[in-house]
Amino acid sequence: MIISKKFGEDMKLTKWDMIFLIIVLALGIAGSVLVLQDFSDASYSSVVIEVNNQVYKEYKLSEDFKTTVEIKQENGEYNLLEIDGFKVRMIEANCKDKLCVHQGYLDHATGMIVCLPNHVVVRLVSDKEAETDAITY
Ligand SMILES: [Zn+2]
Repeated sequence: MIISKKFGEDMKLTKWDMIFLIIVLALGIAGSVLVLQDFSDASYSSVVIEVNNQVYKEYKLSEDFKTTVEIKQENGEYNLLEIDGFKVRMIEANCKDKLCVHQGYLDHATGMIVCLPNHVVVRLVSDKEAETDAITY
């Protein structure tokens, strides 16, 4: 306890910062495990890019499918998405927080990359979900 208390003081972290950090790390690890499992069975087959709640583009994922997608909006907002097989990530954005870029590869813990400032949502869609949608419409 003495060591951890000293560590906390040196890092200028409060007890709650530490707890938050641990939770974030735990979620990260859990997320990576899920990604490995889900990508191996490829249950998610499409990625849907939504801008202002409207479908902007949709791509079917496959092992050798690779592309970058420019998401340019009239108001100058800009995102650049990279799709590499079943891996999807935001590689560039002109938003202030850059949270979407820092999120790295899209994982199945969240199932989406969200760029709040630019109103861009990138989400994975499974075959099952696509079928359900088709019936609903
Ligand atoms: Zn962003």
